[in-house]
Amino acid sequence: MPSGAVILIALFALAAAAWFLREEMKRRTRARLRAMRLSPEDRAALSRAMPVYARLPEDMRDRLDGLIHQFLAEIKIYGAGGLVVTDAMKRLVAAEASLLLLGRPERWYHSLKTVHLYPEGYESRIAEREGYVVTERNQGRLGESWRYGPVILSWRDAAAGAADPNDGRNVVYHEFAHQLDHETGVADGAPLLPRAQSAVKWAHVMRAAYDHLRADLAAGRGTVLNPYGATSPAEFFAVATEHFFEQPERMRAALPALFEELRAYFNLDPSGWR
Ligand SMILES: [Zn+2]
Repeated sequence: MPSGAVILIALFALAAAAWFLREEMKRRTRARLRAMRLSPEDRAALSRAMPVYARLPEDMRDRLDGLIHQFLAEIKIYGAGGLVVTDAMKRLVAAEASLLLLGRPERWYHSLKTVHLYPEGYESRIAEREGYVVTERNQGRLGESWRYGPVILSWRDAAAGAADPNDGRNVVYHEFAHQLDHETGVADGAPLLPRAQSAVKWAHVMRAAYDHLRADLAAGRGTVLNPYGATSPAEFFAVATEHFFEQPERMRAALPALFEELRAYFNLDPSGWR
């Protein structure tokens, strides 16, 4: 064999070995983080800030602790707009975000590296295109989720969302639902489904519930879901996620097919956490 080919094969084998080693190290580090628990003091503080944490079954609370540790190790949370971020604030945001992964621990926010916390609602510049003209304006926001980039949150609203677990509003659940939706490359209300879940049925149920919400709003009828969900299929999924975790009984009674799709997707039923 020519020596050039031998060197090439050796280099390839070395690169493959390095890759396997790195993956194995990552797997071990994650397993170690997932096995970690919060201290009794941190658990007490988190229970006060996020009552639903205290109501989780013991095994789920343990699992959430592990996810919080992994979140804080892999995703950096920064203060913005002058906000000084404490460890307790980071734990709360990590706990809210990780709750969405609780039923499917193999799922992760793979493309997310940073979260930015503003003290409260903030102004964001948005561009609107009409023909050849692009107009930019400032828009007041509570949160944003970028496909390959950060999640941006109003701390005041993230904390308020955790403090009231029953009002159907939680900006952290909302923005992190967008992160899950982005996993497919497009935010269209169709996240990567578990193998056993039918994408055709998901699309059918989501579409029907979305159309129903829009029709109710057009007719001036009251709605179970926040009207903001009628903005687009992506917003519908994010809004439905907020209601699923905060008002599961109400959703199950009023929108049973939607509830069932979300129950299968998240692989849990928050009804027991009341
Ligand atoms: Zn949204």
